[in-house]
Amino acid sequence: MKEFWSGRIREMTPYVPGEQPRGQTFIKLNTNECPYPPSPRALEAVRAAAGDSLRLYPDPECLELRQTIARRYRLSENQVFMGNGSDEVLAFAFQAFFDPEREIVFPRVSYSFYPVYARYFGLRYRQVPMKDDLSVDLDAMMGDNGGVVIPNPNAPTGMALPLERIEALLRANPEAVVIVDEAYVDFGADSAVPLIRDYPNLLVVQTASKSRALAGLRVGWALGSSNLIDGLRCVRDCINSYTVDRVAAAGLKGAMEDEGYFQSVRGRVMATRDRTSQRLAELGFSVLPSRANFLFVSRPGVSGAALQAGLRERGILVRRWDDPLIADWLRITVGTDGDMDALLAALAELTA
Ligand SMILES: *Cc1c(COP(=O)(O)O)cnc(C)c1O
Repeated sequence: MKEFWSGRIREMTPYVPGEQPRGQTFIKLNTNECPYPPSPRALEAVRAAAGDSLRLYPDPECLELRQTIARRYRLSENQVFMGNGSDEVLAFAFQAFFDPEREIVFPRVSYSFYPVYARYFGLRYRQVPMKDDLSVDLDAMMGDNGGVVIPNPNAPTGMALPLERIEALLRANPEAVVIVDEAYVDFGADSAVPLIRDYPNLLVVQTASKSRALAGLRVGWALGSSNLIDGLRCVRDCINSYTVDRVAAAGLKGAMEDEGYFQSVRGRVMATRDRTSQRLAELGFSVLPSRANFLFVSRPGVSGAALQAGLRERGILVRRWDDPLIADWLRITVGTDGDMDALLAALAELTA
């Protein structure tokens, strides 16, 4: 029953987020959240923001926060745009920079929100086949298109592209905007931010949800030429001027000012990832080389659905997709060392 729905919405198949279990306690390795708490400075800032000033609207331009982020990335504040999670920033970017007449491209195996946005905004799109090793075929994205979107590192494979390749893509597509979604870049990939100076068509999108342990605050941002940033502001101010609330802006500012905590969290996650990856290989799993806070793994001869169900019975949630190319692969978030020991024990049992 879709009575009263607009024709456009009746036709939509929305994105399905990873499960957030209620009640039952799982080891939650299905949505790439950080296993460690946010920086104490972020929490202190959140508490300080939760006061009388909440009766006032927030600064729609998030000026102080943009200044903090601009300093962190050696940019100017007019090269920073803030949004309510990077999902919102991506949605604004699809509307700001892509036209229905020109096909946009993204990898076949990548963030499943991209095709949803493209359909929702009435854009034509092409999903570029992966190379045999499941890496992104950048050569197939160069040249005539209306825009490119790539996560780097890619999701859900975790594999990263070197900066020279991203630069080659920017050079080959000077007429179109290239969005590099860096949701996972802090876990060991090279950021494209230094290329912003030379490429006015580059938009880098980042988030506080993964490496900053603030998925619950919903903050993300875009970095790019001031012209692209103005395009995003234009879309925002046609929809909702106050997307980042006072508490979220304060919390992220606190987190950004705690570089030491950030470095220690990402270091711990990467160390646990590399140790887990090695143990999984010893158990006979194929493990893609990950530069993210998750591992993409399969076990020849065992179906992905069976592994996922077996883990669930043992209290562990992981993510899987039905695309036949990757249906036997699991995306496993890197948790604490204890979480990973439980995962390894469960997988050893399931594949014995
Ligand atoms: C998690 C994720 C995002 C969204 O992050 P939010 O800032 O929480 O909206 C964007 N892109 C990719 C590839 C992601 O995995």
